[in-house]
Amino acid sequence: MLTIALSKGRILKETLPLLATIGIEVSDDELNSRKLILDSNVEDIKIIVLRATDVPVFVQHGVADIGVSGKDVIEEKGYMGIYELLDLRISKCRMMVAAKSASDIQKNLLKVATKYPNTAKNYFNKINRQVEIIKLYGAMELAPVVGLSDCIVDLVDTGNTLKANGLKAFDEISSISSRLIVNISSYKSKNIEIKDLVESLEKNL
Ligand code: AMP
Repeated sequence: MLTIALSKGRILKETLPLLATIGIEVSDDELNSRKLILDSNVEDIKIIVLRATDVPVFVQHGVADIGVSGKDVIEEKGYMGIYELLDLRISKCRMMVAAKSASDIQKNLLKVATKYPNTAKNYFNKINRQVEIIKLYGAMELAPVVGLSDCIVDLVDTGNTLKANGLKAFDEISSISSRLIVNISSYKSKNIEIKDLVESLEKNL
């Protein structure tokens, strides 16, 4: 049995066609049901649908053997208990520092609002900047506008959300895409099945 963890929304939508190319399909009935463990057309492959931030946690603890997770989420959580095996090249975007103006990110003790406190802390440590991190769960773009922070660290795709809120992207922290991750113990105990799946996926990218 192989259990694959996917997150609701964009990753699920973009990963299902990839899985279909290697013969793993989930019916619309399963997808539209309220079930959280979905059967696939392959008897020993199940799909679990989670919140994005929970995917690496389920894989880390071996409840799911494999997961598809944004690099942003993996970097924020760390790599304990998992291997990152494949860049699926989907859900691409960039982790950026954004602010109203360049002068806002020159301040001495920079206030940074973000959903990614570890990523932000690591980045500013690396460039020797002293920061105060303000952890938010959404609507990051609002923080500099209302004076809660000097800048934000967030994902940027088209840049439209920043623009709509009078912000500009300045520094790129990393480029992000969805990655295939695997539980380290599963990788040993189910090595043949997992390698087969990864190799087939890689050929179809
Ligand atoms: P955009 O306006 O296209 O730059 O998109 C920015 C908004 O979409 C921000 O709220 C981001 O948090 C979110 N976003 C952009 N790309 C991704 C992604 N690959 N995964 C999750 N959220 C994203």
